[in-house]
Amino acid sequence: MRGNPKRRSKRVVSFKLRPELVPQPLWGVSACKLLNGRAPWKAIRIAELSRAGHRCETCTSSSVPLFCHEQWTYDDRKAITTLTGFHIACSDCNLALHMGLAHLRGEFDKALTQLCQVNKITEEEANRLFNNARAVWKRRSEKHWRVGVVPRLLVSYPQLKVLVGLDTRRTGPARDLRFVVTGKEIVRAG
Ligand SMILES: [Zn+2]
Repeated sequence: MRGNPKRRSKRVVSFKLRPELVPQPLWGVSACKLLNGRAPWKAIRIAELSRAGHRCETCTSSSVPLFCHEQWTYDDRKAITTLTGFHIACSDCNLALHMGLAHLRGEFDKALTQLCQVNKITEEEANRLFNNARAVWKRRSEKHWRVGVVPRLLVSYPQLKVLVGLDTRRTGPARDLRFVVTGKEIVRAG
């Protein structure tokens, strides 16, 4: 007998804040970039800030600047990524969400500290979260993606149709954003 199976089951841990590394072929493919940060994007940002009560939706900080973070899901089997909503984030939480960029900017430790504080975890656990995210990033960066937006979001923000149907086979990665993954780090390629 090997005991109660429930005891052997893995504890499912959910974290309030997780690093989200955008797969390389999708760099530059975002609502903010494609709407050029202009009026159609600003309208989304203003509406989402209002919805969130002008607070970070992760740690409740109201310190400005507040960022309108895009929430994307990935269907790894079909290679489809979908914009599902927006999430208001303070600058520290935003840094932790974009840990790959934080690393490039020399702000990795600051991002790691925020991961620890918000999730109430140790530095070792926070590093593990980042390493897991990086492994997923590496795998997802090896393929091309088709882009979609959930229908309810298009009802609220018709300007997001600019994203629908994009395919990284055609768009390719942003030219000025070439990075490579070495054994341990994401570094700028040139
Ligand atoms: Zn925050």
